[in-house]
Amino acid sequence: MGGADRIREQGGAGTFEARAYAARSATSPLAPLTIRRRAPGPKDVRIEILHCGICHSDLHSVRDEWSSILATTYPIVPGHEIVGRVAAVGPEVGKFRVGDVAAVGCIVDADGTCEGCREGQEQFCPAVTFTFNGPDRHLGGVTYGGYSEAIVVEERFVLKVPPSLDPARAAPLLCAGITTWSPLRRQGAGPGRKVGVVGLGGLGHMGVKFARAFGAGVVVFTNSPGKREDALRLGADEVVLSRDAGAMLRHAGSFDLILDTVSADHDVNALLGLLRSGGNLTLVGAPSKPLEVSAFALIFGRRGLSGSNIGGIAETQEMLDFCGKHGIAADIEAIPVQKVNEAYARLARSDVKYRFVIDMASLR
Ligand code: NAP
Ligand code: ZN
Repeated sequence: MGGADRIREQGGAGTFEARAYAARSATSPLAPLTIRRRAPGPKDVRIEILHCGICHSDLHSVRDEWSSILATTYPIVPGHEIVGRVAAVGPEVGKFRVGDVAAVGCIVDADGTCEGCREGQEQFCPAVTFTFNGPDRHLGGVTYGGYSEAIVVEERFVLKVPPSLDPARAAPLLCAGITTWSPLRRQGAGPGRKVGVVGLGGLGHMGVKFARAFGAGVVVFTNSPGKREDALRLGADEVVLSRDAGAMLRHAGSFDLILDTVSADHDVNALLGLLRSGGNLTLVGAPSKPLEVSAFALIFGRRGLSGSNIGGIAETQEMLDFCGKHGIAADIEAIPVQKVNEAYARLARSDVKYRFVIDMASLR
C-alpha cells in the first residue's frame, strides 16, 4: 500500500483543509468547496495562493467540452495561472524560502526521465500531471487547481516570479504567457518576420506583446471591432476584422507565422491562405470539435499547420525572467472569487480585457 493510501486511512493525517471554488457538474456554477491538500513532503513547497488567472481552458474543462480527449472528473477545481507566497517548505527544498513570491503553471508532476522531460518539455511526458483534473499520485483522485487558498507542489515545478512584476498581472504568464512565448520563440518570431495573431483574448494579447518585444511585425485578426484600439496599444502594427474579406485579401500570402488562439470553431483555411509559401499556422487554441482543413490550402505554397502545448518548466522560467527584465505582464481585470461565474459568462462571449484574475484574498 502506498503512502497516500496510508494517509487517507489515518483519517486525513498528513493532509490539511483548503477552501476552494469548484464545479460539481458540467452545468452547475462554481461554488465553494473544502478540499484536502497533502502536507508538504521533503521536496514540496506549500503556497498560499494570492492570485489565479482564468484561462479559457478552465471554462472548457468545467463544461466538459473536451470530454472525448480529456474528460472532466467532478468536482473540478480549475486554475493553472497561480501566483502566491511560500508558506512552508520541505527539508530538501533549496530554491525557495518562506515568504518568497512563487508561481505554479499547468504542470505539477512528470517522471523526470523520459525524452520530453530530458528535453525540458515536461508537458510531453507520458506521466505528466496537469495542475487540475490530472491523476493525483499523492492523494488519489484528481488534482485540484488554483481557485483555492493553498496548493502544495514539488519544488521542481514551482517558478520564481521576478520582483519587478506585479504578482496579479504576472499570474496569466503561467499559461497564456508560456503558451504564446514557446511557439513564437521556437519559430523565430523576430525582426523581418511578419506574425499574425488570431483572437485577442488572454493568449492573443500576450502573443501580441511577445511578438512585438521580439521585434516582429504584428497583425491582429479579431472578430471584435471594439478591441481595435487596444490591439494597437498592445503592440500590433495593424488590426484586421476577420470578416472583412477585402482586408483579408490584402494580406494574402504574406505571413511567416500565424498564431491561432481561437477557442471555438472557425475557418482555418482562410487563415492558411494568409501564409507565404513555407509559412506556418500554429494552433494553440483548442476548440472542442475537429477543424476542417482543405488540402489545397496547405499544398499550394507548402504551408505548415502545427500545434503547440504550453511549454516546459525551464522555458517558463526563462519567459518569466524576460518579462521581469522588459516589464511585460498581462492586462487584467481583477475579480473576487464570488464573481467567477459572471467572468465565465463574459469569457464565453469574448468579453475579456484581457485576462480575469481572481484575487484570492476574497476566498479567505
Ligand atoms: P479567450 O481569452 O477567451 O480568447 C479567445 C479569443 O478567441 C476571444 O477573445 C476571441 O477574440 C476569439 N474567439 C472566440 N470565439 C471565436 C469564434 N467563434 N470565432 C472566432 N474567434 C473567436 O481564451 P484564451 O484563454 O486566450 O484561450 C484560447 C484558447 O486556447 C482556448 O481554446 C484554450 O483552451 C486554449 N489554450 C491552449 C493552450 C495550449 O497549450 N495550446 C493553453 C492555454 C489555452 P476576438 O474577440 O479578438 O475575436
Ligand atoms: Zn491555460
